[in-house]
Amino acid sequence: MSDAAANVSLSTKRFEDCTIAEQQTLLANKHVSAVESAQSYFAQADRHANLNIYITDARESALARARVSDEHIANGTARALEGISIAVKDNYCTKDIRTTAASRILENFVPTYESTVTQKLLDAGAILTGKTNLDEFAMGSSTESSFFGPTINPTGEKLGFKTLVPGGSSGGSAAAVAAGFAIAALGSDTGGSIRQPASFCGVVGFKPTYGVCSRWGIIAYASSLDQAGVFAKTVGDVAAVMDVICGGDAKDSTSIENQNLAFKQALTQPPRKLRIGFPAQVLKAGATADTDRVWQRARDIAAHIGAEIVDVSLPTFKSALPAYYVIALSEASSNLARYDGVRYGRRASNPRDIIDMYEKSRSEGFGPEVRRRIMAGTFTLSAGYYDAYYLKAQKVRNKIVHEFAEAYKQVDLIVMPTTPSSAFAIGSHAKDPVEMYLEDLYTVPVNLAGLPAISLPVAHSSSGMPLGLQIIGRQLSDELVLQAAARFEAAVKALG
Ligand code: GLN
Repeated sequence: MSDAAANVSLSTKRFEDCTIAEQQTLLANKHVSAVESAQSYFAQADRHANLNIYITDARESALARARVSDEHIANGTARALEGISIAVKDNYCTKDIRTTAASRILENFVPTYESTVTQKLLDAGAILTGKTNLDEFAMGSSTESSFFGPTINPTGEKLGFKTLVPGGSSGGSAAAVAAGFAIAALGSDTGGSIRQPASFCGVVGFKPTYGVCSRWGIIAYASSLDQAGVFAKTVGDVAAVMDVICGGDAKDSTSIENQNLAFKQALTQPPRKLRIGFPAQVLKAGATADTDRVWQRARDIAAHIGAEIVDVSLPTFKSALPAYYVIALSEASSNLARYDGVRYGRRASNPRDIIDMYEKSRSEGFGPEVRRRIMAGTFTLSAGYYDAYYLKAQKVRNKIVHEFAEAYKQVDLIVMPTTPSSAFAIGSHAKDPVEMYLEDLYTVPVNLAGLPAISLPVAHSSSGMPLGLQIIGRQLSDELVLQAAARFEAAVKALG
C-alpha cells in the first residue's frame, strides 16, 4: 500500500492490518479519511486484479459514500460502521449496482431495490466496495462455476501456489478479506458457503442461526437453508458487522423478531467454563491428515482455555450430506423457476415460439452445474419420487435437528473441522460432481439444523495452507459462539 492511508499507522500496525475498532479510531482522529481508506482498498484491488475477486467493483458509489462518511465524521455524527469498507457477495441485490449471482442469465441485471442486510450496512455508514465472485447461484464449493471465471486463492498465491481455489460459494468474499480488498465481507451460507471459503483462505467466517439475518433481497438458492453472514480477519470484526446486520425483518417471514443479540458487547463479558462436544461419529468420518491436525489443535485449545471436553453422539451425521443435496436441489429447482427470460434476466434471441424462448433462455443462461441441479431437484420433487427422496431427506433432517438438541443437553458447543482438506487446485474436482459435494461433509449438518457456526483458522496443512475449525452452537446461542471463538482465537495466538 503506497497511499495516504497506508502511511498511517496505529502504534506499529499498518492501516490495512487494523481491526474495525482501530480503523474507527484513526478515522475519528482524522489520521485518515474515509475517502483515503476506500482509495487504499481500491489500490490494493487494482494491484491484485489477477485474483478475479470482484465481478463488479463499485468504486464510484463507494467513493461518493466515503465523502458522505467524512462529513459525518467531521460533524461528530459518525454511525456504527462509518467509513468502514465492506465487500458484498454478488447474490445480494444492490440498488443501481449490477447483481449477477455469477450467472449469465443475470449478467446485466441491475436491481431497483436494496437487500435488507446491505441496506443496514449503508444506513450504518459502511462503504460497499464491490460485488464479489461466487459459484453460479451460490451452487458450489470452489467459485469455479462462476460465469465470470474462477477466483484465485490469495493465501495460496502468497505461498507460491498460483492455482488454488478460494473455496465457495462465497469464494470472492473470503478472498476479498484475505487479499485486503476490504476489511470485512458479506457472504451467504446454504451448506457451508461462508465457513468453507473462510477455512481455505485463512479468515474468520460466521454463519448465524437461521433467521438471525434477513434473507430479503438475497438471490435465493435453498430458502430453508440460506443465511447471510460475515467474513473478517478477527472475531471482533465479525461481531461489529453482525451487530449492524442482524435483526428481524417484516419482509422475511422466516427472520427472527426480538433477538436481543449484542455481539460486541457479548465479547466484553467475563469468560465462563465451557463444555465442548467432540462428536464420535464425526471424528471417524472422512478423517484425513488435515482433519487430524484440526482435531488435535481443537484439543490443545480446549485444554489451554480450561474447557471440559465431552464425547457427544451425532449418529445420523453421515446421512446429512445426501439429505442436504436432496433438499437444497429440490428448493433450488423451485426457486430458479422464476428465471424464464420473460420478466427480467437474459432472453434468448429469435425463439420459434414461447416454449422455445423459455427453453433457450434457460439453457443458454444457466451453466452446467446449475442445470444439473435444477434437473435433479425437479426429479426429487416429482410424483412417484417425492416420497422416496424429498420426504426421506426431510425425515433425516428432523433426526439431525433432534440429535443436535440431545447433544446440547450435555455441552455448550460442538467442534469439528470445517473441511476435509485445505484448498484444492482449480480443475481437480471437475470430473465428478460428487467429489465437489463431499467437500461439504462437515458444514451441511449445521444448515439442516439451522444452527450458528463459525470457522476459525487454527492450523495449517503440510504445505502451509490454512485449516479452519468450526465452533457450532445451539439455536440462537450466536453470542456464545462468538465469545468462544474469541477465546479460541486468543489461544491460537498464544499456542503459536
Ligand atoms: N457447497 C454447497 C452447495 O453447493 C453449499 C453452497 C452454499 O452454501 N451456498 O450446495
